[in-house]
Amino acid sequence: MTQRLLIIGGGLAGTALAWDLHERGLSFLIVDRDEPLTSSKVAAGLVAPITGLRLTLNWRYDTLYPEALKFYRDKELKLGARFYHELPIVQLLRDDQAVMQWQRRCGQPDVQPYLNAAAQQPLVNDSIFTNSHGGFEQQHCGWLNTAEFLAASQRYFESLGCWQRGEVSLNHSNQSSGPVLWNGQSFTSAVFCTGWEAARQPWFDWVPFRNGRGTVLQVTADTGGESRIINRGCWLLPRGDGTLRAGPTYEFDFDQPHTPGQEAVAELETKLRSLLKSPCRITGSQTGVRPIIQHRQALIGRHPVRPQIAFLNGLGSKGVLRAPWLARQLVEHLMEDRAIEPGLDVAGNL
Ligand SMILES: Cc1cc2nc3c(=O)[nH]c(=O)nc-3n(C[C@H](O)[C@H](O)[C@H](O)COP(=O)(O)OP(=O)(O)OC[C@H]3O[C@@H](n4cnc5c(N)ncnc54)[C@H](O)[C@@H]3O)c2cc1C
Repeated sequence: MTQRLLIIGGGLAGTALAWDLHERGLSFLIVDRDEPLTSSKVAAGLVAPITGLRLTLNWRYDTLYPEALKFYRDKELKLGARFYHELPIVQLLRDDQAVMQWQRRCGQPDVQPYLNAAAQQPLVNDSIFTNSHGGFEQQHCGWLNTAEFLAASQRYFESLGCWQRGEVSLNHSNQSSGPVLWNGQSFTSAVFCTGWEAARQPWFDWVPFRNGRGTVLQVTADTGGESRIINRGCWLLPRGDGTLRAGPTYEFDFDQPHTPGQEAVAELETKLRSLLKSPCRITGSQTGVRPIIQHRQALIGRHPVRPQIAFLNGLGSKGVLRAPWLARQLVEHLMEDRAIEPGLDVAGNL
């Protein structure tokens, strides 16, 4: 039988999966609600090697980053537009504790490839940015214009007849083994790439999601022509068109997916004003929900009882970096029967 996959959800996960299948010449249909605000559409799209208070190297960065970079560059060639912007990230340290942590980390071998030893000194214009404790400059990082990448991919797949607006609800008629049926069509498999909402939908509602609502601000400020991403408590991203974004917030207890909590936004504004010495104005904000699975980097694989139904989810706050690699792992599993690493296999979590 000819393989045809139903991809439910066209965010970063579903789109990466679609591209992988497309490049292997395999048949699929993406069905997506086409909502204006989703996690993937509001994301800042940042990709950074060294993150967090402990300044750790991101999970499998040495493997995931080259694959993601190649993936986005290939799509840029195919679609005739630039989506991924490689930019240094200046990490300014906030206090003595952060300085001590950096002193512990800066000599360790894992971070060396990601440090720019020739970074300008002082690292930033001290009359514009607070630079009380110094810092370092990261390389092999940048940001993806997620909204433009998704819109261009959607147009491309729509032109091929394999992208459709709609709502998929796979109910009891799909309980039995055999092909997955939806809207009068038959598919060899269906893959849930539905982001945080998988926690509310049938089939994978038992996965231990701990979703995180997040907000990113649109900002205007005179940053003295700074073209790098600056991070000190929050990041400030120059988009290259004169606009800036700042973020993010994390909220784990929420009702409304697209309405931010006032306290979280106030905290972000405080961090932004502590990073910037120059005046800034907040001109807008966007809020979405990151699909986060407790104690997991992500999960992929087949449903433990209904193997024709599969899952690619839990990209957390690293969707840009992780989606291409995870999508490939899942395709190799579904099409070539390659085993999934135990820690990544959704079936192992039932
Ligand atoms: C404020 C914020 C900032 C972020 N910043 C970054 C960042 O800097 N870098 C980074 O890498 N990541 C960032 N992220 C995280 C990133 O956005 C996620 O990792 C990623 O977008 C998740 O992609 P997804 O495809 O799994 O989910 P989603 O983007 O949520 O996509 C799921 C899609 O499925 C559709 N859908 C759901 N149910 C159905 C159904 N039943 N039928 C049809 N369609 C359905 C939805 O409409 C949606 O389009 C950020 C997220 C937020 C919220």
